[in-house]
Amino acid sequence: MSFLPDAFFCDACGAQKREVNHWWNIDMQGFISGTPEDHATADTRLPAFMLVPFNAELARQDDIKSACGQLCAHKIMDEYMSQLLIECK
Ligand SMILES: [Zn+2]
Repeated sequence: MSFLPDAFFCDACGAQKREVNHWWNIDMQGFISGTPEDHATADTRLPAFMLVPFNAELARQDDIKSACGQLCAHKIMDEYMSQLLIECK
């Protein structure tokens, strides 16, 4: 089975993106700091879950996840939060 180069799939349920949709992109590799950036250190950086409306250029990046709607975005966020709780123990 071959796919078009611009085929996108939901990282939660595997659905293929169509023209009409309410898709999202998610970056789970980002960080945010409560201190000004020039004073930020590895200790002040906190992992951040960033959710943005779907963007094809973004979706092609390896670390960016795609979700076909709110339900699947919630599933990905649940997994992210569960993983953080495990890592924080
Ligand atoms: Zn989905």
